[in-house]
Amino acid sequence: MTPGPAPGGAHRHVLILGGTTEARRLAAELCADPGLRVTSSLAGRVAEPRLPAGEVRIGGFGGPSGLAAWLRAQHVDALIDATHPFAEIMSRNAAQAAAETGVPLLALRRPGWRAVEGDRWHPVGSLAEAADALPALGRRIFLTTGRQGLAAFAHLDELRFLVRSVDAPDAPMPRHTAILLDRGPFTLAGEREILREHRIDVLVTKDSGAAATAPKLTAARELDLPVVIVTRPPSPPGVPRAEDVPAAIRWLAGTPSR
Ligand code: NAP
Repeated sequence: MTPGPAPGGAHRHVLILGGTTEARRLAAELCADPGLRVTSSLAGRVAEPRLPAGEVRIGGFGGPSGLAAWLRAQHVDALIDATHPFAEIMSRNAAQAAAETGVPLLALRRPGWRAVEGDRWHPVGSLAEAADALPALGRRIFLTTGRQGLAAFAHLDELRFLVRSVDAPDAPMPRHTAILLDRGPFTLAGEREILREHRIDVLVTKDSGAAATAPKLTAARELDLPVVIVTRPPSPPGVPRAEDVPAAIRWLAGTPSR
């Protein structure tokens, strides 16, 4: 079932808050529907983002009121928050702007990862808690939490960090930091190689739930390494959720035209 055109043949305008694989997949699927106008919004954090199909706008809206003004000015009929599960501020802004304007909102959130037998996971609530946990777990750390937030680890002078990110991180960062610029998807063979070559003894990750970055968890399990995993921030209450692109498309099909 596809969302289809609005009554009278007018285009329905869908705004996707993006920055994830799912957001790009959703844009590609929705663009195949001639009854829809599809715009994706990116924050502009990555220097050379992978651009989704359809229209793209880049940069912040200026808080919830800026987003609400954009929804009104661009006659948006439905808003899909397909941001990363850790993009907490944007998700909150989306919920506020949707409440203010009456634009229907869906959160597209892939499920988090599940530990399996053999995993040695240490769940923590924040990057600061991850930093607190590290000295007791090891000395050579593979940090895959993204280029933002390295300040939380900056005081750990005794530890050696391998930081992987798409673009180079900004200071402050730990004294002993090597940077690996790369962007997923990653392979199991590649992740094994990194852990061995750098003699990593702890992996740090956010619970993004992404298939593209899951092989590092398997590689850590194989090598019996502890994994410090930052659990997800809470989602704004009252926002309906879809776990995958087909469910988001079904939601859109059931959303009345405005
Ligand atoms: P955030 O902390 O929740 O948002 C901070 C501000 O960035 C927002 O208030 C908004 O500015 C702007 N912003 C965020 N996402 C936006 C979007 N899709 N379109 C337009 N403006 C956006 O966000 P974040 O965690 O820095 O994430 C930024 C982007 O990177 C998101 O698109 C997210 O999907 C992606 N991403 C994040 C992570 C992560 O770990 N956090 C990982 C991978 C990808 P205004 O208030 O001015 O509107």
